[in-house]
Amino acid sequence: QLQKPKLILDNGLRLDGRRPDEMRPIRIELGVLKNADGSAIFEMGNTKVIAAVYGPKEMHPRHLALPDRAVLRVRYHMTPFSTDERKNPAPSRREIELSKVIREALESTILVELFPRTVIDIFMEVLQADAGTRLVSLMAASMALADAGIPMRDLIAGVAVGKADGVLVLDLNEPEDMWGEADMPIAMMPSLKQVALLQLNGNMTPQEFRQGLEMAQKGIETIYNLEKEAIRSKYAEYKEE
Ligand code: UDP
Repeated sequence: QLQKPKLILDNGLRLDGRRPDEMRPIRIELGVLKNADGSAIFEMGNTKVIAAVYGPKEMHPRHLALPDRAVLRVRYHMTPFSTDERKNPAPSRREIELSKVIREALESTILVELFPRTVIDIFMEVLQADAGTRLVSLMAASMALADAGIPMRDLIAGVAVGKADGVLVLDLNEPEDMWGEADMPIAMMPSLKQVALLQLNGNMTPQEFRQGLEMAQKGIETIYNLEKEAIRSKYAEYKEE
């Protein structure tokens, strides 16, 4: 589509039928890969990501190991079939940047100092992209890390707020991301009330920023509860076994 469509319809709803403050349906499943130490699938509407965690394990080559903490190696990647137009499977500049942004967010929650001289590998594959892939990838990683039993200060929950046709909207879809006036992904460690990731593309007034932050925090609270529920149901499975 080359021309900007109307993003907010006359009835006040969005192109996918949601209210401005409504998130897409969320599905979380832990332990989906047999060969990983931890894994998870995280879906937010049509955005779907699988994450796999390996480690902590001995670092090779040895000279890259750190004496006082674990090293995180993080790869965010979009599969060629995740987008409308085939994505070149080679890592793009965007994917390299997002891998770094996600690594920094994860470094704020993983207790890396407990595992000196080791490496933790975290892979995220976007299976289907409809905006918000950096946040869904980060949350998939957080769930896979919990599945691997790696100690963390808190889980990570995040959602984007933005502006479409002048209206603040929660959890942007692709047309809103592409044509909207602003896109602000926010991820938090909800119990600690700390921000793990915050970026802003576009323009918002200070008042819109405050309102948006409030909107995002409500969404994050909902997501956090779903994450805890997903972990609990995984543990219940183990108990039965
Ligand atoms: N996108 C795409 N091809 C690409 C990169 C992005 O189709 O090579 C789409 C995809 O739906 C993605 C959206 O554009 O979710 C927004 O991308 P952005 O860079 O804002 O990151 P995201 O919102 O996914 O974290």
